[in-house]
Amino acid sequence: MSLIVQKFGGTSVGDIERIEQVADKVARFRADGHQVVVVVSAMSGETNRLIALANEVQERPEPREMDVLVSTGEQVTTALLAMALIKRGVKARSYNGSQVRILTDDAHTKARIRDIDDANMRRDLDDGCVVVVAGFQGVDERGNITTLGRGGSDTTAVALAAALKADECQIYTDVDGVYTTDPRVVDGARRLEKITFEEMLEMASMGSKVLQIRAVEFAGKYNVPLRVLHSFQDGPGTLITTEEESDMETPTIAGIAFNRDEAKLTIQGVPDTPGVAYKILGPIGEANIEVDVIVQNVSHDNTADFTFTVSRNDLPQAEDILRKTATALGAREVSSDNKIAKVSVVGVGMRSHAGVASQMFEALADVGINILMITTSEIKISVIIEEKFLELAVRSLHSSFGLENDPEELARN
Ligand code: ADP
Ligand code: ASP
Ligand code: MG
Repeated sequence: MSLIVQKFGGTSVGDIERIEQVADKVARFRADGHQVVVVVSAMSGETNRLIALANEVQERPEPREMDVLVSTGEQVTTALLAMALIKRGVKARSYNGSQVRILTDDAHTKARIRDIDDANMRRDLDDGCVVVVAGFQGVDERGNITTLGRGGSDTTAVALAAALKADECQIYTDVDGVYTTDPRVVDGARRLEKITFEEMLEMASMGSKVLQIRAVEFAGKYNVPLRVLHSFQDGPGTLITTEEESDMETPTIAGIAFNRDEAKLTIQGVPDTPGVAYKILGPIGEANIEVDVIVQNVSHDNTADFTFTVSRNDLPQAEDILRKTATALGAREVSSDNKIAKVSVVGVGMRSHAGVASQMFEALADVGINILMITTSEIKISVIIEEKFLELAVRSLHSSFGLENDPEELARN
């Protein structure tokens, strides 16, 4: 008998019929003798619907009130799933975040989990109950409802699995695993049998939303065996693992990630003196705006041009701040562009293979795509390009790195 945490995403609990199907699946695991904790998301579209309602009332509602509102979506699906299980003769109890006591910090809308009380869950599991927990939410020390950021139910599942020392955390979704790139964008995308935590973390950070970044971080830190699977099709899914293949077998590139949520800001003609980067980025950081890619060019007149990217949501605020900095520094001009996107190739095999960057740049040049900015790490190369070229870039890179389905394998299937 093993203890399994299973998370079902929004489309998997999108209507009553699907909730019934999820209940069938969970009931089968119980019948096989496993102890099961289920984490559910809100029905697909529900969180967006709630956010839209809030925005009808106020453009920027207080984060505390947003959390009270958006956490309701997950409470609905927990109760419905528990009912569907009980109807099948399976003992089940639903809990919201504060009832479990998933304690978080007080950073509303992006809270971090601090501690999980496993007493209620343990008691129910010992009693033969399926425990159904609302994803994406917690409670701070003062009893305020908090949420963990979009896609946060993945993190709830991994955190519960860590707290309960579960044998496996299974993330059930609308694709049958982690692919070489988003299968909705590239037809030839291939499911990976395995991917390392490190690679998965880069893929998630670079924009592959199949797993929330924090979920991968958590799983890596606490060694939670993690698998991504299709909710309604049987199959092995993708295992996220700490093991790297032997050097011979390591593919250079595991996958290609992309992110449309990027905007670029440029400040031109700043004096090229020590501390200038700090003067430009300091106020941006103080406003809690994350800066992603940074490039500085020095021109012949001893001034510098400084370009960096932020998330699109943050662009208006970042631009206001930068304009103030520009006035203070006597810079020539500030400009912005939100029609850009980031494409990244990710793979631990890069460490032992030279030439990945040049292959990437060549593939993009071959289809006439201009690179606006470049950034690299040990296992990733990212470029910023015009958004209109994004899909072309992803497809070209996917085929240049030989990631598409192996035709022989296709014939066999
Ligand atoms: P859920 O609601 O179950 O949490 P998400 O929509 O958050 O599901 O995540 C699943 C989606 O992630 C897929 O439908 C797919 O379009 C997208 N996706 C992006 N990159 C990848 C990738 N590399 N592999 C698999 N899916 C990906
Ligand atoms: N319902 C939340 C969202 O849409 C959390 C989740 O689904 O993981 O972001
Ligand atoms: Mg998700």
